Amino acid sequence: MGAADTVLSEDERRAFEDEAVAWLDAHAERTPEPSTATAWGEGDEIALMGAGGDIESEREHIRLAKAWRAQVFDAGFGWLGGPVEYGGAGRHPDLDHVYRSIEARYDVPDQSAWNVTWEMVAPAVLHHGSDELKRRFLRRFYRGELLCSQLLSEPEAGSDLAGLRTRAVRDGDEWVVNGQKVWSSYAHLADIGQLMARTDPDVPKHQGISMFMLPLDSPGVDRRPLKQMNGNAEFNEIFLTDVRVPHTNMVGDPGGGWRAVLTTLMSERRAVGSGSGSTVDPAEVITRLAQHLGRSADPIVRQQLAVLHTDSRLLHWLGMRIAEDVAAGAELGPEGSIMKLLANQRNIRLGRLAGELVGMAMMADTGDWNTYAWGRHLCSAPGLRIAGGTDEIQHNILGERVLGLPREPGRS
Ligand SMILES: Cc1cc2nc3c(=O)[nH]c(=O)nc-3n(C[C@H](O)[C@H](O)[C@H](O)COP(=O)(O)OP(=O)(O)OC[C@H]3O[C@@H](n4cnc5c(N)ncnc54)[C@H](O)[C@@H]3O)c2cc1C
Repeated sequence: MGAADTVLSEDERRAFEDEAVAWLDAHAERTPEPSTATAWGEGDEIALMGAGGDIESEREHIRLAKAWRAQVFDAGFGWLGGPVEYGGAGRHPDLDHVYRSIEARYDVPDQSAWNVTWEMVAPAVLHHGSDELKRRFLRRFYRGELLCSQLLSEPEAGSDLAGLRTRAVRDGDEWVVNGQKVWSSYAHLADIGQLMARTDPDVPKHQGISMFMLPLDSPGVDRRPLKQMNGNAEFNEIFLTDVRVPHTNMVGDPGGGWRAVLTTLMSERRAVGSGSGSTVDPAEVITRLAQHLGRSADPIVRQQLAVLHTDSRLLHWLGMRIAEDVAAGAELGPEGSIMKLLANQRNIRLGRLAGELVGMAMMADTGDWNTYAWGRHLCSAPGLRIAGGTDEIQHNILGERVLGLPREPGRS
């Protein structure tokens, strides 16, 4: 019986918490308790979504995060639930979540840039990659040495990802790739691209696609950042010209890319829904904002706050349910879509209420603490209704798989 087949006992959890706290106390400073950290006017401003910086500060941040992550991994906390043969600690999979929630109480570099690597790319490699590929990449992913970006979408292939046109043609032990990708988040900072390319144009579209781990410093890869409405430039368009990638970097067999990407997309929905892993409850933050502005007694504001607190609870419980199912080895189902939809609605509701509360201070920086930052949130929230499969696509999934409605006409 593997660790994933058993429930993590309270005794095991407590013993692990003591172990993690002892190590973190010896290597990092604790941050103040959340109650004081979110007190009005104290500490860093809280831009719930859309915080960003210039490219140099982003690079420096990634450097610091890599150094910290290496320490965490070498101390045995980097991939607690992972198989020992691929660099994991072979312990209970729930412990990874427990460790992250404890680490969030310490002043350490933010590692959310690795969410794509750990939550989306690594599961595809683990479930579909060759033994050699797993040995080569997984340890380095979880040690923070390699940062991944997804090279899935194209100008003519988003919701209908299987319509992608980037071609890979076999040449001996290598594949030669030509095409264009777009919306690749953090590709300008990443080391590895999770590339989807068409390797067989003569079979039904879902069967002719393969997945590769593409080193982004390969000759012929041209990354161009795109500016967004929240002021950041975290997306890229990527031009691929005669790029050579070894056959051993393919995840699964030729034509097996669709199965592998489904693993990624399922994990992505859950990850987008569960947020950045921050311990800050957005409902608490906006309640404090309403209190500070003397609006918390307003019945209309109170009603909206009640809805936001309900959203937070529902997301928390749904996240726990999904985490337990995944730890027990179950395949992630439509719950990921429900979680993503609810999180998106919550983020939009938060931005709207913040706008009503702070008014113009959201659009022009008055210098008032934590007012202008909400503008970034407001401009960032709609993006997550699109990323990882749009709201409409999630509704289709729920309609077909949960409600048993007929499949959309014209879909294979
Ligand atoms: C914040 C963000 C981060 C992203 N990060 C990445 C990344 O790192 N890597 C990457 O590869 N891509 C990334 N993307 C791209 C994202 O996956 C696509 O934008 C998304 O899949 C939608 O594709 P599209 O933009 O081509 O829109 P389209 O597919 O053209 O859709 C246009 C509209 O039509 C609707 N629609 C389409 N098909 C259907 C249907 N069958 N039923 C009902 N409605 C439908 C859609 O809901 C949408 O409203 C990111 C996008 C965002 C916003």
